[in-house]
Amino acid sequence: MAGLIKAEDVQTVKERANIEDVVREQVTLRQAGMGSLKGLCPFHDEKSPSFTVRPALGVYHCFGCGEGGDVIAYLMGVDHLTFSEAVERLAGQLGITLRYEESNGRGGPRDGAAPGKRTRLVEAHRVAADYYHAALVDSGEARAGRAFLLAKGFDRSVAATFGVGYAPGGGTSLAAELQSKGFSTEEMVTAGLVGRGQRGLYDRFRGRVVWPIRDITGDTIGFGARRIHDDDRIEAKYLNTSDTPIYKKTSVLYGIDLAKKPMSQQRTAVVVEGYTDVMAAHLAGVETAVATCGTAFGTDHIKVLRRILRDEPGSDPAKVIFTFDGDAAGQKAAMKALTKTSGGPRSRLWLLPPPGKTPMNC
Ligand code: ZN
Repeated sequence: MAGLIKAEDVQTVKERANIEDVVREQVTLRQAGMGSLKGLCPFHDEKSPSFTVRPALGVYHCFGCGEGGDVIAYLMGVDHLTFSEAVERLAGQLGITLRYEESNGRGGPRDGAAPGKRTRLVEAHRVAADYYHAALVDSGEARAGRAFLLAKGFDRSVAATFGVGYAPGGGTSLAAELQSKGFSTEEMVTAGLVGRGQRGLYDRFRGRVVWPIRDITGDTIGFGARRIHDDDRIEAKYLNTSDTPIYKKTSVLYGIDLAKKPMSQQRTAVVVEGYTDVMAAHLAGVETAVATCGTAFGTDHIKVLRRILRDEPGSDPAKVIFTFDGDAAGQKAAMKALTKTSGGPRSRLWLLPPPGKTPMNC
């Protein structure tokens, strides 16, 4: 559990955040007189605008669906964030350092990243993602990586959309890049991007195709890396970021940043097996596809999905569709995870068997 953000810091964030700017990231607003702005509601489907924002008061309200509140409530609703996540996101953008109540000796945001630290670790990942992507596009060494992606039907523009990159094989170039951008050894190591060995710093991912793993707000918080060279001394087909203060593999879902909105609208989630499956699904129009990152689907993943699917008592059942084939143990675990946390028949789990058979509805 995250520690509570100090009330006065929440207040500071509320006062300094500009709700108009925040809303304009997703909604086109027009002047509507009396100090209010109007646009199409992001919370329900409509053709004429009934969603209003009053910047001077820092509030929004929709006359169509009744949604309303302050800038924090807006972000929680539109981006499916918890209260703390919404405040942290705004604070990060405004350059406000948050302080946390030291309750139960468990202070700090999101399982222990000290205030301000999260921002630095996210920034290091942004630099790394840019570096890897440029390497994929430009370097001769990445030819095998480009060929791997092309063989799966992913061209340059698709790679750009998903931010796919290539980690050079030299072993220290990312460390050098991060160093040149002012990151300390401790920051690089804590971020899980660089390791510290007997002979100094070394890049965690070497000579592999890498996928940036983004959190629900779109921040890159980790990477998945696939083996493509026969002489790769690490046998594992996939390597993933180990747990860090900002990356928890049991709750991370690849593709969640892209899938959250369609998921919420369709109240359906499609769980596929890996990074390339997520890409293929999205390109094929299945915009609700996500995948776990190097771990089995578990209860923490279910919690994330339930928040987005708004799986609440009294609502129509949400659907979680699994497309894993062949792994009966994995399906059983997933089914158990879902039925356990949903407390009965509210959510429906569909297991898609290999083509030709009908889905099993649990
Ligand atoms: Zn509305």
